[in-house]
Amino acid sequence: MQRRDFINSLAGGYSLAFFPGRGSAVPSNALSVQVPDARKFETLSPRSTPELPSPEPHMRLVDLEADLLVAGGGCAGVCAAISAARHGVRVILVQDCVRLGGNSSSEIRVHVIGANQEGDRPGWRESGLIEELRLEDAVNNPQNSFEMWDLLLYDKVVSEPNITLLLQTTLYAAEMNAGRIQRVMARSDKTEHLYRIRAKMFCDATGDSRLAMEAGADYRAGREARAEFNEPLALEKADNETLGSSILFTSRLFDHPMPFTPPKWARKVTKQDFIHRPIDSWAMGYWWIELGGDLSTVADDERIRFELLRIVFGIWDYIKNSGEFPSSKCWAMNWVGMMTGKRGSRRLLGDHVLTQLDLESGGRFNDAVAIGGWTMDDHVPEGFNRPDVEPTVFNPVPEVYNIPLRSLYSRNIPNLFMAGRNISATHMAYTSTRVQATCSVIGQAVGTAAGQCIKTGITPRELASNASHLTRLQQALIRDDQTIKGVQGNDPADHARSAHITASGEIGAAKATLIQDGFIRDIPDKKGFPVEYHHWAAELPAWIQLDWDESKQIREIQLTFDTGFQRDLYVPDVPEEASVNNLRSPQPETVRDYTITVGGKVLASVSKNYQRVNRLRFDPIETKSLRVDVTAVNGIGVGEARIFEIRCYS
Ligand SMILES: Cc1cc2nc3c(=O)[nH]c(=O)nc-3n(C[C@H](O)[C@H](O)[C@H](O)COP(=O)(O)OP(=O)(O)OC[C@H]3O[C@@H](n4cnc5c(N)ncnc54)[C@H](O)[C@@H]3O)c2cc1C
Repeated sequence: MQRRDFINSLAGGYSLAFFPGRGSAVPSNALSVQVPDARKFETLSPRSTPELPSPEPHMRLVDLEADLLVAGGGCAGVCAAISAARHGVRVILVQDCVRLGGNSSSEIRVHVIGANQEGDRPGWRESGLIEELRLEDAVNNPQNSFEMWDLLLYDKVVSEPNITLLLQTTLYAAEMNAGRIQRVMARSDKTEHLYRIRAKMFCDATGDSRLAMEAGADYRAGREARAEFNEPLALEKADNETLGSSILFTSRLFDHPMPFTPPKWARKVTKQDFIHRPIDSWAMGYWWIELGGDLSTVADDERIRFELLRIVFGIWDYIKNSGEFPSSKCWAMNWVGMMTGKRGSRRLLGDHVLTQLDLESGGRFNDAVAIGGWTMDDHVPEGFNRPDVEPTVFNPVPEVYNIPLRSLYSRNIPNLFMAGRNISATHMAYTSTRVQATCSVIGQAVGTAAGQCIKTGITPRELASNASHLTRLQQALIRDDQTIKGVQGNDPADHARSAHITASGEIGAAKATLIQDGFIRDIPDKKGFPVEYHHWAAELPAWIQLDWDESKQIREIQLTFDTGFQRDLYVPDVPEEASVNNLRSPQPETVRDYTITVGGKVLASVSKNYQRVNRLRFDPIETKSLRVDVTAVNGIGVGEARIFEIRCYS
């Protein structure tokens, strides 16, 4: 695919803009994003005029200002930045690597998983921003390239006019004023820039909590004692250990023998090392090549990296040359990570510390803003150096749980949020919340909450402790397709809620009026099939109509389609793993072509849609009726149209 086509195809779907009067039926993917212009270029490499006196002679000092500073461009930081920007917040995103995505980037290559437990809890794939990214990736990256995933994230970020992205830039200091973060310092030695960045709100999504450490935020590391939070799975005595870091590798099958000679410093491994670590395939390395949870995963990172590389090459030598795996003869390594993938270090302390008990009881919080659901996946800190034990224990989390806002901001720095693996959680709870789809929905919650704090001039704590602020936040999140378990969308500004609904038909329990019930997903049984319906379905071609007693002014319509949550959707993975349960294409049940008719006149015709949420914005119209005609879905042989929600706004 050409780069230009890729950018154009990204424009379809989620935030679709459509302007009647500037040409009739515009297909969704013809609406391209803003191509970076001179102003945008300035946001990619900002300069100061006049030049400021710099504390370092060869570095250019640049003063920048934003509403929200996000440090760290992993899944959490990217989602926080995009969601805030889409709420009108001016964001600076600082990322120390050359690529976005953190552990999911091609530099480390960890695929994004979450509440649906890689398909073991079907029906619970996260919605919202991470779903938008997953769907883009499935359609535009069927080749499962991690580099294309990086590029997708880059494209999404630079396409947001409110985000200034500083890549290869490390945040290293914070200036405080009356206990609040006033300014941070970041440096890019590649471009010889020092950035002094002032912001109203800050979000630490660095994983290691560097920003929070500089600000003096309360944190903790290691594993709590059982008695501290009454967690049955916690240790009797607290310690300083966490999960280790890993280096992944990939290998490829050739049509001829591929010999391998290890470096002299490779570790000698033996059969005894693999009693609990079976080698059954070797295409994408082993997550259990892990070390350093008993050291400092920050300060000892270089030493951990060296030892991990020794093990990687030692294991590959064992696979290739021990004679135990003759089928490896034509396989060769084609990539080895040079950055450690970190799992654990510090966790910041918020007003609530999420615990094992919270997760096991479903996290029924008034201030719920996101969901999690991965197991409490508790690795042995010494990793590969403990061949005598299983590398991890998957402690079950019985149901999808909610995560509270109070775990997403610092308890002692009033303008600091955190997003990602460093949220306020005990070691046990963090072993579940740390997976990247959960980090992503946390990021979306934080970005939206930060936007609300900035607009209303309140602190995160004030937001979390005020019922009407909280309701506003939860409703904003649900409107943006974020799942909060048990919380119903109920937006008084949405005209669709007061409409009379009629439709071309209904299939079983998938009634037409469910498009206005405020729930954006079905509740699934153990196999992923709905036990609680929240979508309308009818045979194709299908229509659904909204009628009002009085005329309404409408300038935005939002539709939420079905994207097959009963399946998994890995981001990204090796082709062999792409199965019928992970479709690298538009999802078959998603509405592809549809028309919106208002007061008898065609307002918009959309084709080739593959996104779950479509937003259509146009000049205001007065109408007493609105009809959606669905003519096609993406799957051949799928005979029905499904819509979860229709919203209409003035
Ligand atoms: C080998 C391995 C396997 C795993 N398996 C899975 C899995 O299968 N699925 C899954 O979803 N999760 C898995 N995890 C866990 C998951 O990858 C992490 O918990 C997750 O990446 C945390 O997300 P984050 O956004 O908080 O941090 P990260 O992904 O680490 O992103 C943080 C980013 O911030 C940057 N940064 C750090 N300091 C600074 C600074 N001072 N200035 C600017 N930028 C900074 C970092 O370089 C990084 O790019 C695994 C982890 C490892 C290591």
